[in-house]
Amino acid sequence: MTKSIFVKSVCLAGTVVATASWFLLSATASIAQSAGNSKDLRLYVMDCGVLLYRSLAKFGYKPGEVKPTDLSNGCYLIVHPTKGTLLWDAGAIPDNLWGNADIPPKKYYAEGIVPLNKQLAQIGYKPDDITYVTASHAHWDHVANLYQFAHDTWLVSNYTRDKLLSQDPPDKTDPSMFAALKDTKTINLPDDKDYDVFGDGTVTIIPTPGHTPDSRVLLIKLRKSGPVVLSGDLYHFARDLITNNVQNDQNGPQSLGSHAKVQALLKEIHGKLWINHDYNQFNSLKKAPLYYD
Ligand SMILES: [Zn+2]
Repeated sequence: MTKSIFVKSVCLAGTVVATASWFLLSATASIAQSAGNSKDLRLYVMDCGVLLYRSLAKFGYKPGEVKPTDLSNGCYLIVHPTKGTLLWDAGAIPDNLWGNADIPPKKYYAEGIVPLNKQLAQIGYKPDDITYVTASHAHWDHVANLYQFAHDTWLVSNYTRDKLLSQDPPDKTDPSMFAALKDTKTINLPDDKDYDVFGDGTVTIIPTPGHTPDSRVLLIKLRKSGPVVLSGDLYHFARDLITNNVQNDQNGPQSLGSHAKVQALLKEIHGKLWINHDYNQFNSLKKAPLYYD
């Protein structure tokens, strides 16, 4: 079954307005088959919880300008037909906070929805089965489950690794969360050039500093759905595409430079931008065990 979803609106002062950028999300909706059966690259979107904000002032928005004020939070599994798998981002809620009662745990202002390992199991994977793991940047809402992937290969910049493994890790994290990664096999992500994950140009990690010095986006070239860029935190809301807002505690000029770089790339490849924290767009995407290919 092929379906096209047009996500074409954002809320502006309570009014739904068309944006200059239209997201065409074309995909083949299929229930996952066992891993490795497909000849095509697959992208699975997993729901790694929700961030419950009351105010979006730090993102430059007045009350009512962006609705809802909740932020989605995804984890993404890319399955290459012959060269392994990549987990992109690891959520805000560590799976080990889930108790037996299936009551969604909370951490700071994040709330769990389904444990990550349960979502992976649904599509036939355990954390140890994953080839590569990486995070878009070293913020608490993207790294909480990295500890589960300590037996895989960690694609990581020197900055991120030093930050997470230091005794003074990022806000809202603590050293014990990353202790398991100390001896993990790593491949260094350069800060000044792209990194081709599988060596065939299908999946590329692209430096986009600004939100943090180590921020990156992920380009995935899907055969049927076309090229998709996963935003990390380069943007937080679809409305940022109109306003070019950047968070008030990040490097504005550097962020705007990365915005321009990614917009030029999207134009060149006719790609789609999936904004991780945009609640409305994220909830329009198919979730695992369905996939994009
Ligand atoms: Zn984030």
